[in-house]
Amino acid sequence: MNTLPHDLTRSDRHAPYATVDAVSRGRRHPEPPPSYRSEFQRDRDRIIHAAAFRRLEYKTQVFVNHEGDLFRTRLTHSIEVAQVARSIARALSLNEDLTEAIALAHDLGHTPFGHAGQDALNACMQDYGGFEHNLQSLRVVDELEEKYADFPGLNLTYETREGILKHCSMKNAAELGDIGERFKNGLQPGLEAQLTNLADEIAYNSHDVDDGLRAELIHIDQLNEVPLFHAQYQEVRQLYPDLSQRRVIHEVVRRLINCQVVDLVQTSMARLAQHDPADLDAVRRHPEALIAFSDSMRERNLELKRFLRTHLYRHYRVHRMSAKAERVISNLFDAFFSDPRLLPQETQRKVAELKAQHGDSGQARAVADYIAGMTDRYAIREHARIYLPGELT
Ligand code: MG
Repeated sequence: MNTLPHDLTRSDRHAPYATVDAVSRGRRHPEPPPSYRSEFQRDRDRIIHAAAFRRLEYKTQVFVNHEGDLFRTRLTHSIEVAQVARSIARALSLNEDLTEAIALAHDLGHTPFGHAGQDALNACMQDYGGFEHNLQSLRVVDELEEKYADFPGLNLTYETREGILKHCSMKNAAELGDIGERFKNGLQPGLEAQLTNLADEIAYNSHDVDDGLRAELIHIDQLNEVPLFHAQYQEVRQLYPDLSQRRVIHEVVRRLINCQVVDLVQTSMARLAQHDPADLDAVRRHPEALIAFSDSMRERNLELKRFLRTHLYRHYRVHRMSAKAERVISNLFDAFFSDPRLLPQETQRKVAELKAQHGDSGQARAVADYIAGMTDRYAIREHARIYLPGELT
């Protein structure tokens, strides 16, 4: 029974097309409603208390965790995405709690060592169904977290799970049941999921500029060839001609975030006003995403992405670390898959269980789950324990 003075699950701030508790498709395992939180607050809280969430602190975004204390990790990235996404959700009268839950969970399935780790694990899993971090994030919240007596995973609402699964192949969609349906039927996810996806882009493009400059892998002269950066840089230089370099960079980065957020909010407000979806169902049936950048901002954004791909993500120092990471991951997979007795006993039990159900693919999946769950430093240590003769423990 709700004993609070007002109903916290439905606020007057929510637009008719927002995702609210009343329209939720619920949880896979039915549970009584929370007594003083909304369903999506409960999702958010479960994510924060998950082991996989704590491990994000020691997982690479672009820079491996031990390269420096000031670089973003998956944890600080996820918190920044949540910050950006919540601002957008509030401006558009959407559900901030759901938005925050999706943002905090969106990278839970990432392997150690960022994209290099995922690519390596995907290559190892080629004959066993592949590996995709986005799908793994859903697997973490649906299956892998072990916290509750009555169900595996975190038993999150359909809408949070829908937001976590940003994309997926038709083959995987067919195996995912209700959560895969929208990919088969060409439907959109709720607006909170749509905006969190774009908040992720805003956050990583902007903070990779910041981290790349800090690491001196990219330079302001090069970045000034990117129109989106150049416009902000000019403005800061004109306003503050004598400002120190560090503060200039911060002023530029915060403007980069702000101009993209403002563009996204204004463009999406206009689209929502124009198409006027009656409710969440109308949002899902709309032929395209209603949350969007303007065409010109999308173009500016792409230019920045292209720049980062060429000059940062493919920088030899980043590549050198990525190449090493790929070897660590594939060596670990080879060792564990060919000899599961190298695994901790708890993991051996899971390997045996999945092997009994799905044969070699099951064994490979259990090994991939174990490796994907590792932090950067744990993977490095485990690799040394298995492959370096001098390493005795
Ligand atoms: Mg992300």
